[in-house]
Amino acid sequence: MESEKGRCLIFSAPSGSGKTTMVRHLLRKFPDLSFSVSATSREPRMGETPGKDYIFLSAQEFREKIKAGEFLEWEEVYPNRFYGTLKSEVRRVWAEGKHVVFDVDVEGGVSLKEIFGAKALAVFVQAPSVAILEQRLRARSTESEESIRARLGKAEKELAYASKFDTVLINDNLDEALERVEQLTREFLDA
Ligand code: ADP
Ligand code: 5GP
Repeated sequence: MESEKGRCLIFSAPSGSGKTTMVRHLLRKFPDLSFSVSATSREPRMGETPGKDYIFLSAQEFREKIKAGEFLEWEEVYPNRFYGTLKSEVRRVWAEGKHVVFDVDVEGGVSLKEIFGAKALAVFVQAPSVAILEQRLRARSTESEESIRARLGKAEKELAYASKFDTVLINDNLDEALERVEQLTREFLDA
């Protein structure tokens, strides 16, 4: 996918590490960033807006879009729960003259970095420990016990992907992490 000036910021992390928090902060701070709304076959959570947080599809609709070649990348992140980046989202953001921000799982992040190369900054967000990750997932109160277990079970494997990213952002103290992510973004966009 080609664009004169459009760049990408890719955020990946084990679930609960704080990447949504980082991404929302950047979208508020930088008016020339715009979020790539992913498609998913999972159920909407309380407070999520269809078309804004995700494009919610049935598993069958998702499979049809895979067949039609509409995704830049997609993953079955949890069994029967698909997540993917639509080519149309990247085109939409670049057509607005903005830079695109992705919030994707670690494999999706590596795929997008391979696609966009130097046009992309790939950031791996990491909680200070798995115990803290568990605390944050529980405190968020959005997941069932089963879903928390699944997410923690995946976290160990996902942490091994950190070295494939351009940078690792440790999200310990929130204010410091937000400041750091702003600084990384400014450096990348000004380069
Ligand atoms: P992710 O998008 O990676 O799944 P979230 O951004 O939803 O993670 O963060 C998980 C939970 O942890 C949320 O409830 C969020 O408010 C909280 N959180 C994020 N960063 C911190 C931090 N530095 N300290 C404490 N809690 C945090
Ligand atoms: P959640 O269900 O917590 O919103 O997301 C679960 C995981 O799916 C997170 O790691 C999230 O980043 C990832 N995810 C969201 N959208 C996409 C996407 O378009 N592609 C990929 N590969 N992963 C995604």
